[in-house]
Amino acid sequence: MKIQNYINGQFQNPISNEWLENYCPSNGEVYGQLPNSSKADVETAYKAAKDAFPIWSQTTLDERSRILIKISELIEVNLQRLAEAESKDNGKPIRLAKSVDIPRAASNFRFFGNAITQFASESHESVGQNAINYTLRQPIGVVGCISPWNLPLYLFTWKIAPAIAAGNCVVAKPSEITPMTAYLLGDICNEAGLPKGVLNIVHGLGTKTGQAIIEHPDIKAISFTGGTATGEHIAKVAAPMFKKLSLELGGKNPNIIFADCDYDDMLNTTVRSSFANQGQICLCGSRIFVEASIYEKFKTDFVEKIKQLQVGHPSDDTTDIGALVSKSHLEKVMHYINIAKEENGIILCGGNKITVKDFENGYYLEPTVIEVSTDDCRINQEEVFGPVVTIMPFNSEDDVLHMANKVKYGLSATLWTNDLKRTMRMSNQLQAGIIWVNTWMLRDLRTPFGGVKASGVGREGGFEALRFFTEAKNVCIKY
Ligand code: NAD
Repeated sequence: MKIQNYINGQFQNPISNEWLENYCPSNGEVYGQLPNSSKADVETAYKAAKDAFPIWSQTTLDERSRILIKISELIEVNLQRLAEAESKDNGKPIRLAKSVDIPRAASNFRFFGNAITQFASESHESVGQNAINYTLRQPIGVVGCISPWNLPLYLFTWKIAPAIAAGNCVVAKPSEITPMTAYLLGDICNEAGLPKGVLNIVHGLGTKTGQAIIEHPDIKAISFTGGTATGEHIAKVAAPMFKKLSLELGGKNPNIIFADCDYDDMLNTTVRSSFANQGQICLCGSRIFVEASIYEKFKTDFVEKIKQLQVGHPSDDTTDIGALVSKSHLEKVMHYINIAKEENGIILCGGNKITVKDFENGYYLEPTVIEVSTDDCRINQEEVFGPVVTIMPFNSEDDVLHMANKVKYGLSATLWTNDLKRTMRMSNQLQAGIIWVNTWMLRDLRTPFGGVKASGVGREGGFEALRFFTEAKNVCIKY
């Protein structure tokens, strides 16, 4: 299966005719090719976007909204096909792709298709000066959207939908590790009547294709989700050109459990917040801190539940944990498990590669729980981004707050307690962009989404995303 670039509404081979191999994580085999796009392909995509911009930016909100909602509906019509493609490309259980990834991609288009009709700007009357100010929110022009492999279509559309809703034209690049559903989106956009050139999808390596996007002097804004090191690099390249940047980066999120929580709810949710999508969600709670009085009970119950999780082929409906996304990622996660052992971490369960019958070369790993006695160890400070969590007890609110904040990241934090005053105190003081209390990953697309510290700059979601993808211009009229 050969994936092509989607430029100016058409599918095209890369100009250089160079290709990359696409691996299937569940069996380790190459099952297709994707363009190894160069600067020239990005330039072609840019020109298509630039040419489409004058008309798209003047297209009525009603019409833009109608097209976005149509894309959303077509994603729903193609749910099964897209879910199968996502699961095959990424290794995630088909159940998850069907219930989370693809429905959410549809919601992204529907949400921003509706949101743009409600997006309003401010006006300020300058009392006593006979003047009125009003703010225009104008689209930026051609913008770049670059997304990672963990939630491929979900995060790709999370950027594209607000960008085009706001009247921009887009040059987008999905991860080279999971290009398939972004490729399938092209046809859907054509069928929905999205004018050619409004969305252009260029496939290829981050260091080549992605680099050409971030270096392009006329791509004025970059919305990026991925690793912190890549984000740092993008910030350095983009800064001298004064590009607008939204950077959604890595995390090392604390999951803080107090003895007064609803125990069963906490336990079930913590299984999910630890290992959903093989632990490859930036929001997973990878550092679990448990109040000392319930620590031993939690440890026993949690490990027992984790041992019951089914690791298996992603297309099997009984699979809880599929394959990791790539061989090199599996090796990276294994490397961290070894580091944890060297640091005297105790492996309570998991820690080994798994061979799934008939798919012996797939990238499978047992869900792994590691008991640590200090928060300073590397396994508790560095992002692993796999099916690995640490657990350790804490004695006081102050201690756990100190440990929770003592990492370079600040994406999300989860808190389990029924004490309202503690909830308020801790929510105020936890250094993270998103705090969940007695839940995890409950998403309302109107809310601001993003991190602090090394987890990024800027916020996505709701009107925050529409503000990012527009320039505010104040007009002052004296009368
Ligand atoms: P990555 O940084 O390696 O790649 C992300 C994207 O950037 C890919 O499309 C890649 O090709 C591209 N890229 C790489 N180098 C580039 C360059 N020089 N210029 C332009 N583009 C370049 O990240 P990944 O391994 O795909 O994803 C995992 C990371 O993403 C984890 O750190 C995870 O925490 C993070 N993540 C964050 C969020 C969030 O919302 N904060 C969500 C999901 C994933």
